[in-house]
Amino acid sequence: MISVTGLSKRYGTHLAVENVNFEIQKGEVIGFLGPNGAGKSTIMNILTGYLSMTQGKVLIDGFDISENPEDAKRRIGYLPEIPPLYIDMKVREYLNFIYDLKKVKFPKKPHIDEILKLVKIDNVQNRLIKNLSKGYRQRVGFAQALVGNPDILILDEPTVGLDPKQIIEIRNLISRLGKNHTIILSSHILSEIQAVCKRVIIINRGEIIADDMAENLSNKLSTDHSLVARIICSEKEMLEALSTVKGVKSVTSLGKNEENSFDFLIEPEYGVDIRAAVFDRVVSRGKTLLSLTSNKLSLEQIFLRLTETANNEEAKELLGISTDAETEEEEN
Ligand code: ADP
Ligand code: MG
Repeated sequence: MISVTGLSKRYGTHLAVENVNFEIQKGEVIGFLGPNGAGKSTIMNILTGYLSMTQGKVLIDGFDISENPEDAKRRIGYLPEIPPLYIDMKVREYLNFIYDLKKVKFPKKPHIDEILKLVKIDNVQNRLIKNLSKGYRQRVGFAQALVGNPDILILDEPTVGLDPKQIIEIRNLISRLGKNHTIILSSHILSEIQAVCKRVIIINRGEIIADDMAENLSNKLSTDHSLVARIICSEKEMLEALSTVKGVKSVTSLGKNEENSFDFLIEPEYGVDIRAAVFDRVVSRGKTLLSLTSNKLSLEQIFLRLTETANNEEAKELLGISTDAETEEEEN
């Protein structure tokens, strides 16, 4: 449905997007996740034909956005970061205006009626947009994106600035729309993406550094990363005992617990399964291991770790994906 190859965008001398590649199948709901300035809006603006690319190719349902912009754009509904609302218009009046602008062919009234119902703004259709709450205005933004029944929806940070109740309403709306649309949603907030998207593309410094199912991203990191051991012991002795276990990179005490036990956060060297060795060491010291659990990271923690890295190579290494070393190995 959407195919992006070798996409780059330069603003003057600043390379904002660098060699981005991805495919999105019909019906997918995917999240663009990345900190502010990562390049999410730039990519979305290019996909929707609002911004030219410096290099690359974008196909929307087979139509090249540069060569056949009209055919490509007709398939996309776009909700930009700042929705293009005419606040002195009434809701229905505005949607009629968008209908004309998009040169939609279906019968006007039933089409607009359907959209008003779908995004639940039929009760405010005769109100001036400027008198609506932020949550309602955002729904009007969704409504304009839906005019013309595009298959693809591109939503740039659709919940920014909304209160928690409005956020839940918009989230539900996206979930409903996801049943019969292909959706790309951007956010710098993890829980937003996690709530509605199965697949996540993480964008950092203009590059894609991960493209995977949300659950895989979190599994990958949890297996290669830390364990939490709860042990009945003396803190100092066990810190020393655990830090010399083969494959252990670092040990941190998380403090005292029930029954004179301590929790230790144990980080293995990359890719090493240290569970058996940790168990053996505790037993050989005559101590009791109460529990040993994988310190499964939430997507939130993964994301924080990614943005704390010095560069994208380090960020990818953290995710255990395609470092240069690996590519060389494959070539040899
Ligand atoms: P995001 O949406 O992920 O926050 P953007 O795509 O808005 O990121 O921005 C990516 C980078 O490109 C940032 O460094 C930003 O400052 C820069 N940028 C965005 N738009 C422009 C522009 N019109 N001119 C120059 N630089 C821009
Ligand atoms: Mg943005």
